Amino acid sequence: NAITAVIALGVVLTLMQVDMASYHQLEGEMRRALARGDFRLHYQPQVDPSRRILGAEALLRWFNPDHGIIPPAKFITLAEETGLIVPLGDWVLRTACAQLALWAEIPATRDLTISVNVSASQFRQPDFVPRVREILAHTGADPSRLKLELTESLFVRDPDVAAEKMSALRDVGLRWSLDDFGTGYSSLHMLRNLPVDEIKIDKTFVSRMASEEQDRAIVRLLIDMCSTLGLFLVAEGVETEEQYRLLQAWGCDGFQGYLFGKAMPVFQFSRLAEAASAA
Ligand code: C2E
Ligand code: CA
Ligand code: CA
Ligand code: CA
Repeated sequence: NAITAVIALGVVLTLMQVDMASYHQLEGEMRRALARGDFRLHYQPQVDPSRRILGAEALLRWFNPDHGIIPPAKFITLAEETGLIVPLGDWVLRTACAQLALWAEIPATRDLTISVNVSASQFRQPDFVPRVREILAHTGADPSRLKLELTESLFVRDPDVAAEKMSALRDVGLRWSLDDFGTGYSSLHMLRNLPVDEIKIDKTFVSRMASEEQDRAIVRLLIDMCSTLGLFLVAEGVETEEQYRLLQAWGCDGFQGYLFGKAMPVFQFSRLAEAASAA
């Protein structure tokens, strides 16, 4: 028995070492990737009820020379744990704001918004507010074209500090969006007390809408609630015309999903927006 225990412990330790090794290796690779410019932003269209393009959500992609495109699910958590999310998040914001400034020069893209994901640890940095201000000033982006997405989990710990930061940046003119709404521990109380402008219904509700009565009920309730509270409501993960039709009929404001386009390189997105405005 003792022998089995020792062997088991040995196996666990070996596994942990492998894990730690790949962990540090991955961290190092991410640092190099950031320095080398291997991270890119892709843009996924958001449309209104008449299918006009409102803007895009900026989604991070890692172009790794050996592994191809690595999706954020594979590296965001590690970036948060290692603190790399701070320079990476800065880069995302700078890139998106620079894009907004470029789009502002072209009639077809002038009115588009960009939504940027902000991770909890990035938001919790004491200098988050001045950093964002600095990036806006430096790029010359119009703050009213920028939306920052936060997830509900962020407010469990320190809702008051969060509300203060959000208000400070809202005064500058940007807008706040609550991402993945309905999946976390959100309370309606929170919604009432935070300076939020937009809510994004999580795609799990949207995808089950057609088959599940309950999900349909939740979505309709959220739509009514948002319209009462004056919040802009975006449905994520819209994949079918039927989902789009239902959400439209119920009064949803914005729509995002594969039905309108996957996240794509910026030149492709700009072309889409230009074609749409010419039509
Ligand atoms: P998210 O913010 O909820 O982003 C939406 C995710 O759903 C994206 O996955 C998008 O490609 C995917 N999606 C969009 N439409 C559809 C659809 O119709 N059907 C389905 N099945 N999926 C759809 P992606 O790009 O892999 O990103 C995953 C997550 O990684 C994001 O979830 C976000 O939490 C995080 N992330 C992405 N970029 C950034 C970033 O720049 N900073 C931070 N902190 N997190 C990011
Ligand atoms: Ca998001
Ligand atoms: Ca989401
Ligand atoms: Ca509405």
